[in-house]
Amino acid sequence: MTEYWNPQIERMPLEELNKLQEEKLRHIVHYVYQHSPFYRKKFDDAGVKPDDIKTLDDVKKLPFTYKKDLRDTYPTGMFCVPNTLLVRFHVSSGTTGKPTVVGYTKNDIAEWNTSLARALTSIGVGRGDIIQVSYGYGLFTGGLGLHYGAEEAGTTVLPTSAGNTERQIELMQDLGTTVIACTPSYFLFMNETANNEGVSIKNDTKMRVGILGAEPWSEAMRTRIEDLTGIKAYDVFGTSELSGPLFTECTYQDGIHIWADQFLVEIIDPKTGEQLSDGEQGELVITTLAKEALPLIRYKIGDLTVKNSEPCRCGRTHPRIMRIMGRVDDMLVIRGINVFPGQIESVLMNIPEVGEHFMIIVDRVNELDYMKVQIEMTDAAFSDKVNDIINLENKVASALKSVLNLSVKVELVEHGSLPRSMGKSKKVTDNRQL
Ligand code: ZN
Repeated sequence: MTEYWNPQIERMPLEELNKLQEEKLRHIVHYVYQHSPFYRKKFDDAGVKPDDIKTLDDVKKLPFTYKKDLRDTYPTGMFCVPNTLLVRFHVSSGTTGKPTVVGYTKNDIAEWNTSLARALTSIGVGRGDIIQVSYGYGLFTGGLGLHYGAEEAGTTVLPTSAGNTERQIELMQDLGTTVIACTPSYFLFMNETANNEGVSIKNDTKMRVGILGAEPWSEAMRTRIEDLTGIKAYDVFGTSELSGPLFTECTYQDGIHIWADQFLVEIIDPKTGEQLSDGEQGELVITTLAKEALPLIRYKIGDLTVKNSEPCRCGRTHPRIMRIMGRVDDMLVIRGINVFPGQIESVLMNIPEVGEHFMIIVDRVNELDYMKVQIEMTDAAFSDKVNDIINLENKVASALKSVLNLSVKVELVEHGSLPRSMGKSKKVTDNRQL
């Protein structure tokens, strides 16, 4: 039985939903023009007035917003409300350049909670569930975002945050956690830690659902995680600029539902900026339709995906984006060939002898790019025979070559020697001076 948080909105006939979206788009365009000097200037520079936006198709006339805009107006230069109306700040880590600050009004938090409550309901999580939120709490949006969304949905929250993994496993057993929310890398690390203590997440806990995200992960990794731990693993999506984690797949695991009454999704060609049709892969662009403090118009998220506007088998009419293939920035260009870390992960996770942890290392020697992939063997496949090791390395190298069309050096390393992550994992080391 499928349950809905708000059946009237979630199953709204498409025509009606489009009309609602159109109204909200017209409203938000006027709103930002009136309340944000930043957007007024941006629209003026682009020669577009709020009244030019009448239909959903007119969104194409609006200029894009970039992450750089948020950095250039640091800390609150793009906000549409005075700071006195804010109830919370989150700040994204500034790994490259300045951090970005996001502010929320009371309504913004309520909309965020609603979005997650709908999402959690769509994966059958609600009253009676105990959700262990193992995303980091604090300035990062993952922990607090899921926390309040899960409370709204009626679950009991166990706010463990990331880290202290032995304790997490103990609490999971003692309190009967049924749902885990963390990065896929951290869940794998938890599973490994549990196994080392003689605990099986599959057999010794009540864990049944994972809400995994905040880093790209492949379908093959999902299968691997579900097999290892016995949970159903769902992809969660959102970025701090849009509020934080907002959307998940539904139980059909066939794309992430983006609530159309709150957000307008476009997929564009990253090179030309032209809108692409359903089914075409491109860059995700989102316009917020309900945010007050920091609405974003045609915000370029940087993730590559495909949109599907067909109503889903679950009965929801809101569009879906397919599993994120990676970010435009994550793409590696090796000897002129485009490679996504996710493609490599897919190949590796489909080889049963290869463990869940790997590292991609890129070097440039004499003007030529070299890619090396370090892997660990699974415990089950473990062997210290030189022949077995060479055979596995060759098997992985030829599987990678057939998918990437690129020669990759594969190096089997000792079990446990690759770094484990409690948050977003770093799977690529690029030593090239580009
Ligand atoms: Zn669905």
